[in-house]
Amino acid sequence: MKTRSTRLDGDVLWSGGGSGLIKDVDETIAENFRNDWNAIDDSSAVAFLNNRWTVALEIFSYERDRVGLDGERWFLGWHEKKTYVGKTYLNEEDEMGPSRGEIYISKYALLDDDFKTYMGVLRHELAHAMCGPLEDHGWKWQKACQAIECDEEWACEANKKFYVRPRTSLMWTKRDGQLFMEGGTDAMFRALPRGCWERTIYDSDSNRTVYENGDGVKIDPFTLKETYEII
Ligand SMILES: [Zn+2]
Repeated sequence: MKTRSTRLDGDVLWSGGGSGLIKDVDETIAENFRNDWNAIDDSSAVAFLNNRWTVALEIFSYERDRVGLDGERWFLGWHEKKTYVGKTYLNEEDEMGPSRGEIYISKYALLDDDFKTYMGVLRHELAHAMCGPLEDHGWKWQKACQAIECDEEWACEANKKFYVRPRTSLMWTKRDGQLFMEGGTDAMFRALPRGCWERTIYDSDSNRTVYENGDGVKIDPFTLKETYEII
């Protein structure tokens, strides 16, 4: 079967927003990702989270290409917050390189057994990556969400349902407890690459200026080839 595609109008995209040529979701590939996500054994919490990250990177790589974004310009990382699920940083073209950005997704989306959570938040952030820093959740972003087949529940400013699932919250707590028992306070860094952790520093004007790894070394996330190229 031929892959179908859509072309987004140029006025929706910013300079880092890619080709605008979006391939329709291939249901067989999506099903395989869902199976990979659900098949991971959780008898070890560290191995479980590590394996979820591997699948998350594969999906990110596939989805990023599918929606026409440049692999050299878009990076996936993680954070440990429950107060928000995804965050995208966008950089205009400067001396460091062309327009580009980083997407960070919560560890709790990775611990989530509802595969729709990860896909939803990922596509929500990819739509931001396509529309750029001047667009919030307006019509351009909505159009991008629709074109990339972002789930309706995630095609809005915040998916409130994400935060009100007692069974899921209990599972997060259980797996957090297991992580601590297995790996102590550093358990997350045994499961997820430290260099991909969202750790930022702001200057006095509240501009995000540098990215720092766990050892306090200032780095450009795009130089993290060793983790980036796992995908
Ligand atoms: Zn958003």
